[in-house]
Amino acid sequence: MRRNGIVLLLLIAIPTAVWLRGRLLPVVEDDSLLNFVPPSADVRNAAIDETSQLTPELQRYFDPGDDFLPMAKPGPNDWLANNHEGGQTFKEFRQAEPNRPDQQRQVIYLVAIGEISERQSAQLEPLREFTEAYFTLETKLLPLLPLAEGAVPVRVNQNTQKPQMLAADLMRLLEKQLPDDAYCLLGITLSDLYSGSHSNWVFGQATLRTRVGVFSFARFDPAFFNDPIPADVDTLILRRSCRTLAHEISHMFGMHHCTFFTCVVNGSNNLAESDSRPMHACPVCLRKLHASIGFNPREREERLVGLYRQLRLDEEAVWVERRLERLKAVRL
Ligand SMILES: [Zn+2]
Ligand SMILES: [Zn+2]
Repeated sequence: MRRNGIVLLLLIAIPTAVWLRGRLLPVVEDDSLLNFVPPSADVRNAAIDETSQLTPELQRYFDPGDDFLPMAKPGPNDWLANNHEGGQTFKEFRQAEPNRPDQQRQVIYLVAIGEISERQSAQLEPLREFTEAYFTLETKLLPLLPLAEGAVPVRVNQNTQKPQMLAADLMRLLEKQLPDDAYCLLGITLSDLYSGSHSNWVFGQATLRTRVGVFSFARFDPAFFNDPIPADVDTLILRRSCRTLAHEISHMFGMHHCTFFTCVVNGSNNLAESDSRPMHACPVCLRKLHASIGFNPREREERLVGLYRQLRLDEEAVWVERRLERLKAVRL
């Protein structure tokens, strides 16, 4: 089994989990909480690293100002109370020599796997547009990848009594589909996912090196939990999907989970924690992305604002508009 592509999980579940109001929450004794200490401003700034040699625009772009919230102390069921992670500074990211787009591989591909509903099918093009704007790389949708019966083993989750697939099985299929010009390929499925025998479920999973990842729409729909369906359910599902997509593709740029700021690259241990994460990357993660891709900051943000307005992701649009005002402000 391939081990070099270290797999990072957006969400893990713990065997001693209980099902509470239809959602998985791990049982954690107070004294077993991992002792995550929120990083100080000095630690956060050191993770961003020295920016004085950059252009004034980039210095403003990577200046957290008041726009980015520091990482807070996790609650007992949150990711950092259950997973020991030290974060990855910008310098450590560079030293790891992660994959980056080059002349041969510079297209991001998305592909739906197996059966997909009309609602999710209608969201594939918005997800493609979002990916293209967020990562500033050409993004293409591949034709649906059919799953022959029995192609991937299916288990029944004991809590939900719903079928689940092993994310690694789907990623093995995706590796065979990787186009020659693909920077990476992200599979999208309606099936609920898990990551191994000790895993209850995962939102998604991606590799740092082998250019494939997968995420599931399943738990983004309140219907999965038999919850009431809000009037703006399509926007809710789209927002959750965009956030998870940005998270998983960030892993495929070699980013570890972020522990410095509240950020799209933070790990999440449950749906409520995931919903509390922003769509944007913090200055540490943004600098990593910029070092890999080299986009124009203002062009990226202006395109994102337009797309967020078009997709009715208004909270995200307001945030980026404020950010753009600061980018344009003459301060340096
Ligand atoms: Zn993750
Ligand atoms: Zn971050």
